[in-house]
Amino acid sequence: MAAEPHRSDEPPASILVIDDEPGVREGCRRVLTAEGYATDTTESALQALEWLPQKDYDLVLVDLKMPGMDGLEFLAAAQELGTETVFVVITAYATLSMAVDATKRGAYDFVAKPFTPDELLSVTRKALERARLVRERNRLWEERERRLLELATEKGRLRSIVEAMTDGVIVTNRDAQVVLYNAAALAMIGCQEPGPARHIRDSLPLPDLVRLIEEATAGTEVARLTREIRVGSEPHQVVMASVSPVTDPEGSCLGAVTVLSDVSELKKVELVKAQFVNMVAHELRAPLAAIDSNLMVILDGYAPDPSKQRELLERSHARLRALLDMVNDLLAISRMEARAAVRTIRSLDVAEIASEVCSLMEPLAAQRGIPPTLDLPPEPVQMDADHQEISALLSNLISNAIKYNRPGGRVTVSLRVQDQRLCIEVSDTGVGISEEAQQRIFDEFFREKTEATKLVTGTGLGLSIVKRIVDGYHGQITVRSQLGQGSTFTVHLPLAQSTGGHH
Ligand code: ADP
Repeated sequence: MAAEPHRSDEPPASILVIDDEPGVREGCRRVLTAEGYATDTTESALQALEWLPQKDYDLVLVDLKMPGMDGLEFLAAAQELGTETVFVVITAYATLSMAVDATKRGAYDFVAKPFTPDELLSVTRKALERARLVRERNRLWEERERRLLELATEKGRLRSIVEAMTDGVIVTNRDAQVVLYNAAALAMIGCQEPGPARHIRDSLPLPDLVRLIEEATAGTEVARLTREIRVGSEPHQVVMASVSPVTDPEGSCLGAVTVLSDVSELKKVELVKAQFVNMVAHELRAPLAAIDSNLMVILDGYAPDPSKQRELLERSHARLRALLDMVNDLLAISRMEARAAVRTIRSLDVAEIASEVCSLMEPLAAQRGIPPTLDLPPEPVQMDADHQEISALLSNLISNAIKYNRPGGRVTVSLRVQDQRLCIEVSDTGVGISEEAQQRIFDEFFREKTEATKLVTGTGLGLSIVKRIVDGYHGQITVRSQLGQGSTFTVHLPLAQSTGGHH
């Protein structure tokens, strides 16, 4: 007999022989078992169909001519099971048409009766080799499918992560084509789909960004580059772009990952701050220059007359006082800006504060002959607030109402509580505010210059402070006014502070 056909570390190949002739079954079993194959036999094709899914045979030898279910019927039914088993038919009449028929039904080969043990073994070995190849091919397919699936899942996961980022992400390959991006990036740079296989010069609308990516990936010295890129017509519309080249282990460039973060809000704040500083410097400059020139006139001896000198000094003094007021208002603003400001929120009686402010205002009111009238509810007006802020709010509004009044005019301060909100109304019968000025009185340094207001001193900061305070309590302030008739400022503030009390 021939040598063992299978390697000892593998299980023996399993074979099923189906034949109604006991002699053929027994002969096959003997020959195959002697070769080391695990061999089963049966006379019934139906029995074989039952075993097939359970035993996972490598090879089935099936007789074509059998009572009951014959070989061809068996092949058709076995084919349905989708096993990896290889089928060989045993036939007494080996005609070409029979072979074609059997092959059509999934048989791989045939062996003609009567056959010698060598013929049987030769067909068996060939068929088993076939079985091995089929199994191997199927394993490879499965492996490939699994890999593809893994890859797809991995890619999907990467996409979801990139898509979920609030920063913009653009990944480019070594040919400077966009291979991955997220919606945030498109929104930031104002771009539609960048489209595949196009150079970024043709697909990204920002030449500065394209240049940055090219710069970061061009040189031999690859390094991350970060730059601010303008993305809109407004000076504050800026994204911070950071391009990191990606290299292989040898150091050659594979592409780049660009991360974009929207810094527009920060830029806006920066610009506002710069404008504010500029404005303050301008406001300080005029009075300081005036004082400087007054003093120079005296020092250089151009005003030898003591009464002239006194007049210049008095004028300088007045301007200095105004400057001091302005600096105090600026300090109040900066205190409000610093969030950690000493803001103490507690339950206050606003009616009491209003009375306090009015008594502090007495000298000014007496000077102008306009004592304010208080219209308060009988019970205390409790509110969660910072004493200093409420006091500053009231005194700015009430002092304006007195300052911008007419001789014999009136000022009324009223407090009312409605729907958990406090309504403060300060109205006067003064000079009034023009329509255009009403839009701007809450801006820093804005003052309406008319015949009626030109002698009134002020910084133009009072109402901007009031506005900041009102905003800090999530309230509203409005003004109604008519030139020559008077003005009414109305403030609404929520009585309870839900925010824990910070601006
Ligand atoms: P200031 O009073 O120091 O000039 P404010 O910010 O308090 O600054 O007010 C800005 C401008 O709004 C004033 O210069 C004035 O022209 C106008 N204004 C404010 N309150 C009144 C008022 N009650 N009646 C008329 N004009 C007012």
